[in-house]
Amino acid sequence: MNFDLDVAIIGGGPGGSTCGGLLRKYAPELTVGIFEREAFPRDHVGESVLPPVSSILQELGCWDEVEAADFPIKIGATYRWGNSDKLWDFEFMPVEQYREEQRPRGWTQQARQLAFQVDRARYDHILLDHARRLGCAVEQPGRVRRVETDGDRIEALVLEDGRRIRARWYVDASGAAAIARKALGVGVDCPTRLQNVAFWDYWENAEWASRYPGGATRVLVLSIGSGWIWFIPLGPTRTSIGFVCPKSLYRESAKSPEEIYLWALQQEPFITELTASASREGKVEATRDWSFVSDRTAGPNWFLVGEAAGFADPILAAGLTLTQGSAREAAYSILALAKGEHEADWLQQNYDDNQRTRIRQHIRFADFWYSANGKFTDLETYTSEIARDAGLSLDPKRAFQWLGTGGFTHDTLGQAGIGALDLAGTRQVASRFLGTQARWELSRVNQLTLKLDGAKVVEIPAYKDGTIRRIKTYRRGDRRLPLTGLFATVITALQRGPDLVGHILPEFQRQAAGGEAGGKMQSHLVLHHLLQALELMLNDGWVKGRRDPKRPGIDLNTPIEGQIIHTNVELNERLAAQEPV
Ligand SMILES: Cc1cc2nc3c(=O)[nH]c(=O)nc-3n(C[C@H](O)[C@H](O)[C@H](O)COP(=O)(O)OP(=O)(O)OC[C@H]3O[C@@H](n4cnc5c(N)ncnc54)[C@H](O)[C@@H]3O)c2cc1C
Repeated sequence: MNFDLDVAIIGGGPGGSTCGGLLRKYAPELTVGIFEREAFPRDHVGESVLPPVSSILQELGCWDEVEAADFPIKIGATYRWGNSDKLWDFEFMPVEQYREEQRPRGWTQQARQLAFQVDRARYDHILLDHARRLGCAVEQPGRVRRVETDGDRIEALVLEDGRRIRARWYVDASGAAAIARKALGVGVDCPTRLQNVAFWDYWENAEWASRYPGGATRVLVLSIGSGWIWFIPLGPTRTSIGFVCPKSLYRESAKSPEEIYLWALQQEPFITELTASASREGKVEATRDWSFVSDRTAGPNWFLVGEAAGFADPILAAGLTLTQGSAREAAYSILALAKGEHEADWLQQNYDDNQRTRIRQHIRFADFWYSANGKFTDLETYTSEIARDAGLSLDPKRAFQWLGTGGFTHDTLGQAGIGALDLAGTRQVASRFLGTQARWELSRVNQLTLKLDGAKVVEIPAYKDGTIRRIKTYRRGDRRLPLTGLFATVITALQRGPDLVGHILPEFQRQAAGGEAGGKMQSHLVLHHLLQALELMLNDGWVKGRRDPKRPGIDLNTPIEGQIIHTNVELNERLAAQEPV
């Protein structure tokens, strides 16, 4: 059969350009076409990024180009969320340790820990130009009018001018349009009760709520009860301000998008203050932002990436992390298929498992945030339902604990965490929402044994340096325990003996001091992460724990005020000073 291209990608947003760029970087012999319907630059919502994207930019080879655009550095977020009106911060690194670095920054240790707030018109343009320079043939404007299918295979893309493009593999990166997914008849599941809508506009000269040297700041996420407001500085003068609320509230308000947007902003005096000298572009945009996950994300000759594959509510700002992460794994899978490495079914199945698990976990985490904000009156009952969905039978109280302390972790292979939060971070969020210190399960037990009954050993892919390695993993239901990274070290320690203080901790300390686990991480951090991995295994049922009253134990608590999550004293004082007497 004659093909026009090796890979045809629909959509030149971050999903399409990341996938195309990585394909050409690692296999310059492949012919890759990207078809983008719009001329760039074009505006797009979704501007606040998480740190995992930075290393993908570096791998793509466009870190310097993105850094040269001088986007504000994001060091974290300031929230009004949970059971208190006080503002609190979540930092990607302890703010006392943040040091000003001359811009443009190189790929420094600090840069790896932080993120950007990006003007998507410029960001998407930089990424697509980079893919073009790497050798992708970009057709722009190049709208795909129709996707021809034969059963579960894609046969061709039909362009606006009638040309038929045939490729060995197809990638649907067309975002919410999901043109190939729809043509293939792949359905979607909405495993959540959240049905939100979003309204936003751009402002000139709004004051930044926090400002650090080197152009660093935080985004603001402010709950106003009926919904929440985002405030994202995009550049020295431009700010994105949006409002998210349930669809039902919008319908019942009988307001226009412009009216409900302005009404929401008026409810928040802090926004009024920050925009006192600012002017609005005056083009309020609106979209629905309902979380969903596709029933399948890969087939015989196709992959869905980014928002075509699924979407998690923007409260977590995880969209680009999920998008560029999925684009990377799709590129690696196609590279392996092109080289004839690994079985096609195994590559597709694992790609699908990874994306759908990750999207579902983010949706659950978003549900947890909304639950904690009182959006569901039957909050605890609801968390029980979410746990049941994950195959666990927990009473409502235990379910809320589980959800807040590990029910959505396992995002990154070999580590315990989700997005930019490690397990301790998610636990600290839970402590803040619950208003009490979260006690670790490890504090209740001191004898620990691996519990692997019913688990199968399977192989999963590890994606690195353009190739896929096979990693052994225990699998039980939809939970998995990779025999790599921190988890492998924990398993070795458990094999030394069951006593937490006598066997396991000394082994952790030995590993941390010897640098055998955790790569280049400092030893106290390695120890901390090993404890988190063990806690997660205990939470997830991979480890059975009991208390021997004759043996010592350990006492681990997550304080409400921590190093990376804490009350923002300065802004609270500023707001308090302005309240009428
Ligand atoms: C209200 C809201 C707030 C958000 N906030 C954040 C945030 O703070 N942080 C974050 O990381 N994410 C956020 N997101 C999510 C983020 O916007 C998406 O995850 C991201 O844009 C997905 O990238 P993508 O490449 O999959 O799709 P897109 O960026 O939408 O790109 C798809 C491209 O495909 C093109 N296309 C569509 N149809 C065709 C066709 N037929 N032929 C050719 N081209 C086509 C489009 O023109 C577009 O350029 C938010 C989303 C919403 C709705």
